[in-house]
Amino acid sequence: MQKKSEGSIFIISAPSGAGKTTICRKIIMKMENVQQSVSYTTRLPRKGEVEDVDYTYIGEKAFRKMAGSGDFVEWAEVHGNLYGTSRKRLEKLMAAGFDVILDIDTQGAKQIRNSYGGGVFVFILPPSMDALRERLEKRKTRTKEDKADIERRLRRSVDEIRDYKLYDYVIVNDELSISIRKLESIITSERLRNEKIDPGWIKKNFLS
Ligand code: ADP
Ligand code: 5GP
Repeated sequence: MQKKSEGSIFIISAPSGAGKTTICRKIIMKMENVQQSVSYTTRLPRKGEVEDVDYTYIGEKAFRKMAGSGDFVEWAEVHGNLYGTSRKRLEKLMAAGFDVILDIDTQGAKQIRNSYGGGVFVFILPPSMDALRERLEKRKTRTKEDKADIERRLRRSVDEIRDYKLYDYVIVNDELSISIRKLESIITSERLRNEKIDPGWIKKNFLS
């Protein structure tokens, strides 16, 4: 095999509503060998979300127990809910040779940066704050709680955007199809890195 068998990690962060779920979903459909690690969360499912596909939904007590047992490679409180990346799920996907997308917030990305020592960090921005508000409103404006949640997410987005410098790449998600192509290029470039080539394959095919 030309490629080393272990996959890479792509850490994708963005202020809520910038479009990262949409982009990541399209990439998984479009590209072979890319998977997303399904996170655990204490937040309630949104309409249309599917258990163990979008998230695994658990109670706070169970979440904190998992965190205490070291079951998460990273975890954080975001918008008043807890979210964590399962160590077991991530390692299983990587060992199977998948490139793995982690759609996580900036606190989680920092933890991965400090503990994992690898990974490609991608930050997605909306074209403007007005566009961000519009996208959040389009996604969810049914109740008064929804409106308060949107305001909370907008306030928090400024703190998240401040962290953009920690990332290797920045994609401004204006035209969706272009953003998808940009993320695809980043993943393709990573796959072409010298250290991803199996030296055994080179030796067998060209040097023996
Ligand atoms: P995030 O995962 O970053 O919170 P979503 O992927 O849920 O954001 O996108 C928020 C909303 O914006 C959704 O309704 C989605 O369809 C829409 N959206 C995503 N990308 C674009 C884009 N490039 N142009 C216009 N709307 C977009
Ligand atoms: P949402 O509730 O809109 O699905 O996600 C809210 C935020 O939580 C997003 O910024 C998303 O990237 C982040 N998030 C989702 N899963 C995880 C996770 O496992 N860990 C961390 N740290 N953040 C996560």
